Amino acid sequence: MRVAILGAGAMGSVFGARLFMGGADITLLDVNQAHLDAINSDGLRVSLDDGDHRLELKACSPEDYSGDADLILLFTKVFHTASALSAISDKIGDAYVLSLQNGIGNGERVASIVPKSQVLIGMTMTPAEFNGPGHVSSHGTAGTDFFSLDGERPPGLLAIRDMMRLGGIEAKIEPEIENAIWEKAAFNCALNALCGLARVPVGTIGRSDAGRALAMRVINEVDDVARARGMNIDLNKIEKMVAHAVTNHINHEPSMMQDLVAGRRTEIDALNGAIAALGQTQSVATPVNQALSDLVHLAEQGYENPT
Ligand code: NAD
Repeated sequence: MRVAILGAGAMGSVFGARLFMGGADITLLDVNQAHLDAINSDGLRVSLDDGDHRLELKACSPEDYSGDADLILLFTKVFHTASALSAISDKIGDAYVLSLQNGIGNGERVASIVPKSQVLIGMTMTPAEFNGPGHVSSHGTAGTDFFSLDGERPPGLLAIRDMMRLGGIEAKIEPEIENAIWEKAAFNCALNALCGLARVPVGTIGRSDAGRALAMRVINEVDDVARARGMNIDLNKIEKMVAHAVTNHINHEPSMMQDLVAGRRTEIDALNGAIAALGQTQSVATPVNQALSDLVHLAEQGYENPT
């Protein structure tokens, strides 16, 4: 299978590397010229549990993409989805476009540019880090679930799952994908903004009464909004995901924290902000998610004028 990875940062490069090692034909597409140059001169260095690998992957800018992929794996930050897909819109053809990005509304964002029947959505618990141009890392194994946006079973689903498995990705075709996406989003909503605003790693949330109480209020609000939309997400599962993270990944700094520290835009609008906005349309109160979203926007604003 020919796969183009659109947005080859931490996640895109790790998925690209794993799929390449599983035998897929991979092209990394990114706008970070330093990263592209490093890959093209020395290969992609990827640090996994079994050690370091240096892989001769094809990497180019979206403008130089030839447009021959069967699958486009979208791994930009969510606020770059539209610009990234628009830049290659004449080269998408009949390729599937799979978003494994975090947050709510990714399928709809892709479907505003790509025919709905070609859009696949999902979520992954795989962690990844961008160590610097040409070097990414990922540790531990974790699930990746996906399905079609329109609820049909297009012929490519099985082939995509099998390709991922050959690359060591624990891939699963999940017809209840909307629930899985919301459960992951609830997990991200519970921890990312809190860590980013309080400047504490994940483990501190678990050790703090205030942190645990806030995280639970966030999750309960996500559940209220999901129920109002007719969904049935698994609160127990979300609580277990959070408990696992605060116990086992105590020093993990969510990317929202790293983004706020570095003065970069965050994905808050697809997380707590999306919950608050959807709550409003359903007349469901989401005061904690709304406040966290507003505070993160405030923090983002501060970096525009540090003086
Ligand atoms: P990242 O910032 O490391 O990578 C995003 C990449 O997109 C960057 O390399 C950037 O240069 C590139 N990009 C930006 N605009 C582009 C454009 N127009 N065309 C092509 N490339 C473009 O981010 P990440 O950590 O890899 O996260 C990607 C997505 O995966 C996010 O939605 C994130 O929430 C989600 N996610 C991340 C993790 C993780 O552990 N890092 C885990 C699960 C999900």
